[in-house]
Amino acid sequence: MKRSSLAVLLSAILLLCLFTGCAGTLRQQDRTVFAMDTVMSLRVYAPEKDGTLDALEALLIELDRELSATDPESKLSGLNSSGAASDRALADLVRRSADLSRRTGGALDLSLLPASRLWGFPSKLYQVPDPEALEALRSRIGMDKISVTEEEILLTDGAQLDLGAVAKGWAADRCREILEENGVSGILALGGNIQTVGKKPDGTDWKIGIQDPEDPSRNRLVLTLAGTHAVVTSGDYQRAFTENGVTYCHILDPQTLSPVQNSLRSVTVVADEGLLADGLSTALFVMGREAGVAFWRSSTDFEAVWIEADGAVTVTEGLSGAVHDGDVTVVKR
Ligand code: ADP
Ligand code: MG
Repeated sequence: MKRSSLAVLLSAILLLCLFTGCAGTLRQQDRTVFAMDTVMSLRVYAPEKDGTLDALEALLIELDRELSATDPESKLSGLNSSGAASDRALADLVRRSADLSRRTGGALDLSLLPASRLWGFPSKLYQVPDPEALEALRSRIGMDKISVTEEEILLTDGAQLDLGAVAKGWAADRCREILEENGVSGILALGGNIQTVGKKPDGTDWKIGIQDPEDPSRNRLVLTLAGTHAVVTSGDYQRAFTENGVTYCHILDPQTLSPVQNSLRSVTVVADEGLLADGLSTALFVMGREAGVAFWRSSTDFEAVWIEADGAVTVTEGLSGAVHDGDVTVVKR
């Protein structure tokens, strides 16, 4: 082929690619994985023989084995029974979570497992505990009983570590790294943790529903976002039980060691990092709406949506363009 014809052919291919986005080479690929006690729906836009979904599934199953507080064989259970572990990745997760705990004034507390067990949340054998039995656990609870260095984690005074509030966010970050390394875009729903990565091949925005706490089969609102984001919701409707007309949710107030009771039904946090969004969604749920809004005003690294029991929806101004529902209150800095 002559040089000039080759140049024409290459230009034609290039033009075709520009017009179609080379969409023909990318295929939507879906997979469902059950890990971390939840159903995970993975969707990537990748070439036909791409191994991204296999890599994601393997990673999620591995992280489940490491971070589960209920699996007696997990790395975390090993730490909880021996009081010590040497593991760089786990230490990194614990250190960053401890930073978030400090930043949220202790609303995020990774040492609540003994209290959570007494309420029956991990086993799903729920009960309202005897107040004295709950108070007796105080000496084992508190972030000061968890120390962490580059590699080592040490638990003192019989403390037990629970990573339930941050593990899925951390997993989402690790998944995002795989997608970015493979140059693949996608949307991952790890239970209530949504992670978007990159752009959809058809150029449209990601649409992320925020469930209606009154009827979680429906969305209360939809966020429209472009690019890479972590969107994490903590709600009182996911794991809860009702006794004598009172509903008890799985998020505990570290001050009372009891399920949070405030006006909130759910808090959604949008941030660049999954770990940050996950840790903050739990902490903001504990804080309540007013303290949460004040916390947002003193921060620069996240946006949030609060849904309250009376149906009121509050969104931070950074999300006002992403929410298409007139019936929300927008808070400003
Ligand atoms: P989910 O994991 O159900 O999506 P969260 O991210 O809000 O919801 O995490 C809740 C889990 O975190 C609980 O199941 C429990 O294991 C743990 N937990 C409960 N209360 C707290 C708290 N105040 N701080 C840290 N972890 C908590
Ligand atoms: Mg969380």
